[in-house]
Amino acid sequence: MNQEHIFIVRCGEVALKGMNKPYFERMLAERIRKLLKRKFERFDVKRHEGLIFVRADQQYDKDAIIKEISKVFGVASISPAVETESNLDAIGEAAVAYMEELIEEKGIKTFKVNAKRADKSFPVKSPEIGRIIGAKILIGCKVLKVDVHDPDCLLFVDVRHDKSYIYQDKIAGFGGLPLGTNGKGMSLLSGGIDSPVATWMMAKRGMLIEAVHFHSYPYTSQRAQEKVEDLAKIVATYCGRFKMHVINLLPIQEQIVEHCPEEETTILVRRFMMRIAEQVARETGCGMLITGENLGQVASQTAEALVVTDASVQMPVMRPLIAMDKVDIMDKAREIGTYETSIQPYEDCCTVFLPKHPATKPKLERILASESKLNAEQLIADAVASRETIDIKPE
Ligand code: ATP
Ligand code: MG
Repeated sequence: MNQEHIFIVRCGEVALKGMNKPYFERMLAERIRKLLKRKFERFDVKRHEGLIFVRADQQYDKDAIIKEISKVFGVASISPAVETESNLDAIGEAAVAYMEELIEEKGIKTFKVNAKRADKSFPVKSPEIGRIIGAKILIGCKVLKVDVHDPDCLLFVDVRHDKSYIYQDKIAGFGGLPLGTNGKGMSLLSGGIDSPVATWMMAKRGMLIEAVHFHSYPYTSQRAQEKVEDLAKIVATYCGRFKMHVINLLPIQEQIVEHCPEEETTILVRRFMMRIAEQVARETGCGMLITGENLGQVASQTAEALVVTDASVQMPVMRPLIAMDKVDIMDKAREIGTYETSIQPYEDCCTVFLPKHPATKPKLERILASESKLNAEQLIADAVASRETIDIKPE
């Protein structure tokens, strides 16, 4: 590669991991490679002195590369940079060329240099490097003035042992931890706003994802399931290819409606969902369940209902949205790109047999008594066995 883009990628929390640092950095570099490989051919990802350097053929669109890198969990920020030899003449020359481009493209008038030497053996100290490069820019770009308070361009100069780097932008990533560094979870994925966000949040902490989706076909439509697949594909752009188990809940819902009190329908259905998901999770090596439940949002998510739901399974249930406000969850959904798909108006299996007055303060003993009228073990085993598994690939 002669002509290339260079990006400096900073590892956020990954950098705090002490002894595990090389492992996390390796995982992060690998994830970046994997994501870039889906769209680009000529690129290179290397770890160097606590940073990750990505180089890609100049003919690729810079923003498209940044977009991919910023989807990788564990990335704190990204800077498109210019590389130079590590001497003040070369850095000065590159800085002038860099500023000339900015003057032409953006009409900038003021600047400030922020210099840093990672290489402490470099003979000139950071503030002095800043002054020298600043002076070279003033001579080379006559239209520019220094403004230390509110410059149009804050130019970073990063002096390293072998090469030095010049950049101005620090584009924020999502932070978090690289995928695959924190176990595997089974997410209960509906077509709603919440569960895709919950799944994304757990994946952001490094958790690999598998999902289960329930429908009530033919009460719910084929299109409703396609909507969930669309959502899953968006989630997969962040958390990688994953399996989604699709299960028809209708036989169980019919049994509940026939044998149990109407106001308990919702909570009973939820307990069955959890137990089925737990069973599938065991079979597929997932250590925990993930839901988009949120305290108080709906009748099935009161404190009492959550306790009764929780009591249905042994596996820990992660509820990353539990204390968030709906507006904040919606903002997050917009940010990660699931919102527009989530709000498409298709029916969910939960709404099919919605009771008029759902029990908001269910008592576990009464719920267990109702469940004892059903052959729960068999119903669950049948549901698990009937699952159809779909391979979800990122868009
Ligand atoms: P969401 O927006 O995620 O659908 P919600 O606010 O509509 O959540 P509920 O419908 O009570 O709340 O669902 C609570 C959680 O149960 C969901 O976040 C999801 O994790 C799980 N869940 C609900 N319906 C389904 C479904 N059809 N398939 C799989 N999981 C589901
Ligand atoms: Mg829902």
